[in-house]
Amino acid sequence: MKTTPNKSAFIPKMYCNLFGHNFKVTKQVTYHVKEYTCSHCKKQLTTNSNGNLTELTPKFKEINAILERIHHSRMERRQRQHIAPSLY
Ligand SMILES: [Zn+2]
Repeated sequence: MKTTPNKSAFIPKMYCNLFGHNFKVTKQVTYHVKEYTCSHCKKQLTTNSNGNLTELTPKFKEINAILERIHHSRMERRQRQHIAPSLY
């Protein structure tokens, strides 16, 4: 049987259809919201406001970017508060 390397591009999707996706966390947006990417077919998911997983559409990317900014600015403020007492 001949092997055709060019066809290997089709295997990830087939693999996911057979065995299901293999999602890995690619971004921690907030404590509760994460972005996931399937290591086989690169399909992206995110946590929505109900805590369920949903496809990472451009709309959700936008929402996550805003959430991330809020989350980071909160953490920064907390860190600053933590550091401040040692300055006096
Ligand atoms: Zn997949």
